[in-house]
Amino acid sequence: MSTPGTPARVLVLNSGSSSVKYQLLDMAGDERLAAGLVERIGERTSRLVHTPLASGGERREHTGRIADHGEALRALSRELARDGLGLDSRELVAVGHRVVHGGPRFTEPTLIDDDVLAEIEKLVPLAPLHNPANITGIRTARELRPDLPQVAVFDTAFHASMPEHAFRYAIDTSVADAHLVRRYGFHGTSHAYVSRRAAQLLGRAPEDTNVIVLHLGNGASASAVAGGRCLDTSMGLTPLEGLVMGTRSGDLDPAVVFHLARVAGMSVDAVDELLNKKSGLVGLCGDNDMREIRRRVDEGDRAAELAFAIYIHRLRKYIGAYFAVLGRVDAVVFTAGVGENAAEVREAAVAGLEGFGLAVDGRRNTLRSQEPRLVSPDGSRVAVAVVPTDEEREIARQTFALATREEDPSYKHA
Ligand code: AMP
Repeated sequence: MSTPGTPARVLVLNSGSSSVKYQLLDMAGDERLAAGLVERIGERTSRLVHTPLASGGERREHTGRIADHGEALRALSRELARDGLGLDSRELVAVGHRVVHGGPRFTEPTLIDDDVLAEIEKLVPLAPLHNPANITGIRTARELRPDLPQVAVFDTAFHASMPEHAFRYAIDTSVADAHLVRRYGFHGTSHAYVSRRAAQLLGRAPEDTNVIVLHLGNGASASAVAGGRCLDTSMGLTPLEGLVMGTRSGDLDPAVVFHLARVAGMSVDAVDELLNKKSGLVGLCGDNDMREIRRRVDEGDRAAELAFAIYIHRLRKYIGAYFAVLGRVDAVVFTAGVGENAAEVREAAVAGLEGFGLAVDGRRNTLRSQEPRLVSPDGSRVAVAVVPTDEEREIARQTFALATREEDPSYKHA
């Protein structure tokens, strides 16, 4: 454990294809020191927004071309340095990188070396949109501070505990194994954090708590977590499977793909684009923001009503399925942009499910708060809770634990 004065800062980097989100956290004081975003990297209108949190300073914004991820990291490093928090500071003990796909090999946070980086590169075909950006972020950070431990925290890792009967697709095993086709699951860092935090909220030991986590953001996934271990999750080989999302279809008959290829003459890439970018809520009603959809529902807009109904129907099917997977459920927990903010979604998701022990209290459910909270009535058999997710803090926690353990001479490698 660190004591005051011991270096204990972790920089968390979440590198997307044209953006880098970052946070600097102090693990000794459990404090967020700074946060920011560089977006539209490579365009003339790149933008950096930096918020110094520890000093209470003003938010700073810069626009103008930032050519690549290297320049983005140097720019954010300059901003941190202006607050006395530069990447060259000795307080910084590690950089934690969000990496979307860890494939079958990476089931734990992992210290990055050349071999690990090469393995992450081999996984690019499984996450062609995400892993290349994550790799660029890692390379750049290693160039800037080659002496610093860099840790990869994988979105898939928490789901590695799924039993084989949950992660295997019912297809020819030899084909599946040859091409690494199985269910991996995503948003794992969020599911791990939220399920642990929910157990705390209930005042129960995580080892003895069963929860259904509903991560409902622009991407959305559900998971069934028993005693801190994931038993099933709704996303699969890629983040396309499962719930209805902002722009992704979620579950559908795989034959839809053959049908569109044969009958509509669509290429594989066109169908990929359709299902990932032009489906889900946006495909159904033209909007993917739940606030806008609810506004349209209130005005009696038929397409928005139907989109909402389809979204809720799928969600309820997963809640029912995960009751069956878990046997005993202590809480259904909502998180991420929609789950934390849309009271109508929470209400509709559990409406009429008193038989499952589920209900929301109207007043608690509509109360706005940033804190973890119960929204079910007192005495409910199954709690309904809202737990704001914090993937950056979880990445920082895992990164710090690994980086400081590796430095501890008393720690023996298993
Ligand atoms: P996330 O991916 O977790 O950042 O979630 C983003 C999504 O959350 C947006 O696309 C909206 O649909 C939804 N969202 C954010 N704020 C609200 C709100 N106040 N009410 C309803 N939905 C919201």
